[in-house]
Amino acid sequence: MANSIIGRDMAVDLGTANTLVYVRGRGVVLDEPSVVALHEQTGEVLAVGRDAKEMVGRTPDHIRALRPLRDGVIADFEATEQMLRWFIARVHRRRYLARPRMVVCVPSGITPVERRAVQEAGYQAGARRVFIVEEPMAAAIGAGLPVHRPTGNMVVDVGGGTTEVAVISLGGIVTSLSIRTAGDDLDQAIITWLKKEHALMLGERTAEEVKTTLGSAAPGPEDDVPHRVRGRDLVSGLPRTVEVTAAQVREALAEPLHAIVDAVRVTLDQTPPELAGDIMDRGIVLTGGGALLRGLDDRLRAETGMPVHVADDPLTSVALGAGRCVEEFEALQQVLVADRRAVRSGR
Ligand code: ADP
Ligand code: MG
Repeated sequence: MANSIIGRDMAVDLGTANTLVYVRGRGVVLDEPSVVALHEQTGEVLAVGRDAKEMVGRTPDHIRALRPLRDGVIADFEATEQMLRWFIARVHRRRYLARPRMVVCVPSGITPVERRAVQEAGYQAGARRVFIVEEPMAAAIGAGLPVHRPTGNMVVDVGGGTTEVAVISLGGIVTSLSIRTAGDDLDQAIITWLKKEHALMLGERTAEEVKTTLGSAAPGPEDDVPHRVRGRDLVSGLPRTVEVTAAQVREALAEPLHAIVDAVRVTLDQTPPELAGDIMDRGIVLTGGGALLRGLDDRLRAETGMPVHVADDPLTSVALGAGRCVEEFEALQQVLVADRRAVRSGR
């Protein structure tokens, strides 16, 4: 029992905000923020994941906490590789058994060079073979959509750094759009608004908290209830508390929300009519952490005229979809992008 996960095939959802690892036969075994804390001078990794995220905004000069995939691109190659290796090492002890096959989900906007870097990290971490699957495909599979049937399925994944909109049919992506406006921009919009309206400085983590507790994309019953938000006064530099309402926060989020809604409309416009008809019948599925923003489904429904459903567990859809790929390698091979170099050393 103790060694039951060792050497098993695994899937990694390498997200801009969160990384999840799924192990064949076990399910999701790791779920951590995609954050690395490095020693400024030596480059040594000091912490990864939750421990590193705790350090964001609290680091002394010699420590740097960073998100290597921040904007949906690999901003920091080396840190991405180190992070991936750290996570994989935690669930996989390669000294015991065969080297696993690995499915890695990446944002669909990454370049071939970045894709190679991710694959290389997989090999470095002990994989026998690394497959790449595009995030929207994994999200659709994870949300239970019938991706192999000749019917149009639309999935909208609102993550931290990117929003990915895709129409899938017959196991392939027919139309897609990836924009670099997502959860992080909502946080940033809250920071900007509080600075402008209240001369209050907010840290990124506090802004995210305001978003998840007070943020919304459509009017709600508690819109005008005031809530206290604590930050630092821009002038005095001292801590200060202000009162804001959900309606005000929504106003602060207007611009990035508009960009996200627009990406969905543009993609619908570019969808062949037959498939658009299918989407009209079946609806749009919302995944990614951003799908949890209150009223985003209502807003999309109102602005597109399409039915909209939020996936059951939007933060794990991609990992579950990639997990399905490792459970059913043979059946789902079609959606996997195999590595050119079939098998690395040792053969
Ligand atoms: P990625 O795939 O890019 O790593 P995730 O799908 O893990 O991203 O989603 C992370 C984003 O979802 C973050 O911006 C986070 O703030 C946001 N998020 C998480 N929970 C909520 C919530 N309840 N309301 C709004 N946004 C949320
Ligand atoms: Mg994601």
